[in-house]
Amino acid sequence: MLDQNSFKKDLLSWFDENQRAMPWRETTNPYYIWISEVMLQQTQVKTVIDYYHRFTERFPTVADLSDAHQDEVLKYWEGLGYYSRARNFHHAIQEVQTKYNGQVPSNPDLFKQLKGVGPYTQAAVMSIAFDLPLPTVDGNVFRVWSRLNNDFSDTTKQSVRKKFEDELRPYVATQAGQFNQAMMELGALICTPKSPLCLLCPVQSHCEALEQGTVDDLPVKTKKVKKKTIHQNCYVIKNKQGELLIEQRTEKLLNGMWEFPMYEAAHSEEDVYDLLKQDVSISEAPIFKLKHQFTHLTWDIKVFSVDDTIDADQVELAENFTWMKLEDRDQFNFPASMHKVLDALESK
Ligand code: SF4
Repeated sequence: MLDQNSFKKDLLSWFDENQRAMPWRETTNPYYIWISEVMLQQTQVKTVIDYYHRFTERFPTVADLSDAHQDEVLKYWEGLGYYSRARNFHHAIQEVQTKYNGQVPSNPDLFKQLKGVGPYTQAAVMSIAFDLPLPTVDGNVFRVWSRLNNDFSDTTKQSVRKKFEDELRPYVATQAGQFNQAMMELGALICTPKSPLCLLCPVQSHCEALEQGTVDDLPVKTKKVKKKTIHQNCYVIKNKQGELLIEQRTEKLLNGMWEFPMYEAAHSEEDVYDLLKQDVSISEAPIFKLKHQFTHLTWDIKVFSVDDTIDADQVELAENFTWMKLEDRDQFNFPASMHKVLDALESK
């Protein structure tokens, strides 16, 4: 069992001297801290820093973000992936503006009711911005805490998150923000998934797994179910004027982002004819192939080209379609997979 006081003292004095400089560590503004926490989900610190600067420069206050159009918000998110984070955050900020007069609520229960705020974001923002005693349990903390306690509980289980939160709660009775950040920083810099730096670890004298020689066996995670692969055919359709047909997604996944018309491979040619209401010739072989990985599935995409005899005026399109000049690509939000297609078209 850890000695709470001396463990916390060792951890915090290490954090004090070794924490990485990050722009969101220089502010106590809950709106900025919240932005950083949303961006950092599934994304590395070094990638987030530039996005954070651009985002906070363009939307310096809750009111600025609340007033912005979703397309512009997504544009500032483009490349970070997991776009539902941005949409939910934008929605939540609009709620903060209207319901709470632009002030991020410091009541954890009210904060938790905002769109996209799960237990991790709630604890992170509330502890870092307001020093409220809520423990954060993210992937780093699961790993560090399992090892420190030589705990072989399955960290993919919801009940284990709850157990870890309960165990950590006494540690965040004071200096909650510092403690939470120190645990996550230890996981990121020292207690890494592979080859942790135990010899340099500031809390090695408290570590049960190090003593038992079980560091490499922890944390326990049951194997994830195999990702589903969906085969998609994507069509680069050019009209006589040299413009390209693009479609704004209405599905939940990548909602609001633009793409070249894309269909599940099994019946996609018929879909192209249905879309254009005319016979067109589609390249026999794909002009290239790519993969797009999501957390739960993979798109295996074959890209085909469609000839350029199409007269744009003759094609009646639904509202979420438009013709775009390749040089105007920056005016639309494309996911990473479509940027690969656009880059390839540009380099032709
Ligand atoms: Fe992690 Fe090693 Fe430190 Fe234990 S001693 S907390 S396993 S880095």
